[in-house]
Amino acid sequence: MKKYALIWLGIVVGISILAGCGTASASPLPTLAPTSPPPTAPTLPPPTVHDETAVAGATSIAQLPTNIPQPTATATPTITPSPTATPTATPIGPCDARMPQDDLFTIVTQTYGLSRDYAPQDLVLLTDYLPVEVTLGYPTELRQVALGPLIQMIADMQNAGLQPWILSGYRSYSAQAISWEKWNREEPERAAILSARPGHSEHQLGTTLDFGSPELADIVGIEDIEFHTYFYQTSEGIWLAENAHRYGFTLSYPRGAQELTGFFYEPWHFRYVGEEMATFLRDAGTYLTEYQLINQPEPCIP
Ligand SMILES: [Zn+2]
Repeated sequence: MKKYALIWLGIVVGISILAGCGTASASPLPTLAPTSPPPTAPTLPPPTVHDETAVAGATSIAQLPTNIPQPTATATPTITPSPTATPTATPIGPCDARMPQDDLFTIVTQTYGLSRDYAPQDLVLLTDYLPVEVTLGYPTELRQVALGPLIQMIADMQNAGLQPWILSGYRSYSAQAISWEKWNREEPERAAILSARPGHSEHQLGTTLDFGSPELADIVGIEDIEFHTYFYQTSEGIWLAENAHRYGFTLSYPRGAQELTGFFYEPWHFRYVGEEMATFLRDAGTYLTEYQLINQPEPCIP
């Protein structure tokens, strides 16, 4: 249909625009363990896994150290320590303490990025689980860990009379690289704010989605536009801002987050972090990147 063709055109442009999405890792939060799905998550059929883009060993660089060498001897009170008593362990640097890239809290900003080799291992195709009125037929992929909460959230939105669209999900490193090159070729002066460098998009995590609304075009006054800051004025945008945390989704780039994240306000861009963390962030009036950069050591830059 013409409408979908235009939507698709818009999405191709929109995908590039949507900066969002970076990388890097941080250490786990000390008091939160938000990995369990919301209690309302529905029972799901076995997912179809689409992991052809996965790269072997993608998570191997991010393991937390589990066996820090200790000194094996101490000097006697009256004798100078022998050479063998000296600890031989090298210092544990920030990169040695990186969070696995498939962790729900991995930091991704324009500064801190993901490995070019990282691809999630549990991607599913949303068209297998959601109606075309929601997916618009796009082959959007999402990590299975976020699928149940998403399906429940979409169902609740539809029951409330809303018409949420899902416009973008997982984006591979190479797809982001193509987008980045395109923007640098066509609008080099604005590329840095219109797109994320490859490895620096949260979409590479596979837990991040961009939502759309059929109301947006009328509000903005541009036919078939899919991404615009005015999404926050749509019925779907308002509902997501108020309720997404109850399903484990958090707004990655709220107003004023640019200094830390490198991205402007993106009211359509939500990342799954689990209900506990998402609710904590909302109640604290903060967002994931700010919380982690303040409370955790800086992640290393790969
Ligand atoms: Zn996005």
